[in-house]
Amino acid sequence: MPDSCVLILLDGLGDRAHSQLGDKTPLQAAQTPCLDRLASLGSTGLYHPGQLGKPFPSENAQFAMFGNPMQFFPGRGPLEALGAGIELQEGDVAMLAHFCSVLTTLENHMVLKYDRICGTPEEINALYTALGPFKQEGITIELHRTEGMFSVLTMQGDVSPHITDSNPMVDGRFVSQVHPLYAYRNDPTAQRTARVLTNYISWAYKQLSEVKENKLRIKQTLPPINGLVTQRAGSLCHCTSMRDRYGIRGISSSSDLMYRGLARFLGMDFHQVKDTRDPARDIAERVQFAMDNIEEYDLIHIHSKAPDRAGHTKSPKGKVKAIEALDRGLAESIDPLIKNEDVLVVITSNHTTPSSGRLIHSGEPVPTMFIGAGVRRDHVEIFDEVSVAGGALSCLRGDEMMHMIQNYTDRARLAGIHDSPYPQQFWPGDYDPFTIE
Ligand SMILES: [Zn+2]
Repeated sequence: MPDSCVLILLDGLGDRAHSQLGDKTPLQAAQTPCLDRLASLGSTGLYHPGQLGKPFPSENAQFAMFGNPMQFFPGRGPLEALGAGIELQEGDVAMLAHFCSVLTTLENHMVLKYDRICGTPEEINALYTALGPFKQEGITIELHRTEGMFSVLTMQGDVSPHITDSNPMVDGRFVSQVHPLYAYRNDPTAQRTARVLTNYISWAYKQLSEVKENKLRIKQTLPPINGLVTQRAGSLCHCTSMRDRYGIRGISSSSDLMYRGLARFLGMDFHQVKDTRDPARDIAERVQFAMDNIEEYDLIHIHSKAPDRAGHTKSPKGKVKAIEALDRGLAESIDPLIKNEDVLVVITSNHTTPSSGRLIHSGEPVPTMFIGAGVRRDHVEIFDEVSVAGGALSCLRGDEMMHMIQNYTDRARLAGIHDSPYPQQFWPGDYDPFTIE
């Protein structure tokens, strides 16, 4: 029986049917002999981290897939802060922020001209220099650079994470006014947080407009990088570690800052990798990493961003190529892992990234397979969104993925057993030896 699991996450693998692909999804259209062969070796099915139809971002999806209740989700901002090594104090608010290009209207509204914009390293340095720490109403705001135009914005003081985003995410739309969330509309802390952030974003626009490098860009008829937009505020909360909730020693391997932060938040180890232009090589190396470390860990999570990235370019054919590259990488690396009787291999995804239409992610479930000793074999021999719908796993949701992993690695706790006062999701659990009185 397997006693450890390698969870291979192909980010954004799910998709919709596209006319350019003969009404197939990119995964249906792609030549994937390795994934198809693997599907024939075990149980297949679908997965959704929440409710069908609801689009999830990677952070919420992975948090749910790792088996955590959503009330303990801290938000993307704090996870990226943890990933970037920014030390957050209890009560601090963190959110994503990035530079963009905005226009202003006669009514003093800002319109997002270019959400994503390129600048030279000198220009980017000048933008950050123009935005030093900002203090107002006892709140300190700081911008922490993470990568290029992207940063984490922190707010310290008597602040609330219950505020709206300013980033509308789509070029040509108004930058959004920052409000307290409806449930907190009468909360003075949320009101003050929204007010001070609004003042900061306005101040940032004025500061950035004055930067010499922006004046030069305008002379060269380039759009100025004069706006800062924010989204996904949150604050850290306590969440039971993966070890304490599932009895598992876990490690996550990814190129992505958020996964690094999530691993830290859940008490997992993290292995940083870099994406190259060759997703096949990248995934093969990550599978090799899993193989090399399988004795040390109960759960090894490896990740490829390639399908999600391709989906976001809205090119179904580009996504087909990304998927075929991953299949080649798996073909050359996966066999030793599959042959190891002590290992359960799960290949899945986090969310659907539609290669057309305006949605960023969409709410269809994604294909999943489990391979390992003892895993029921179904009749599915093709790994795609439609074929696996007839598989033995049916549609797993939320923390059911983690429970199925516990199940097939013989750690699942029988319902009704109370071996510990804590909500441990593993057996045999941690418990106190009986003392004779
Ligand atoms: Zn995405």
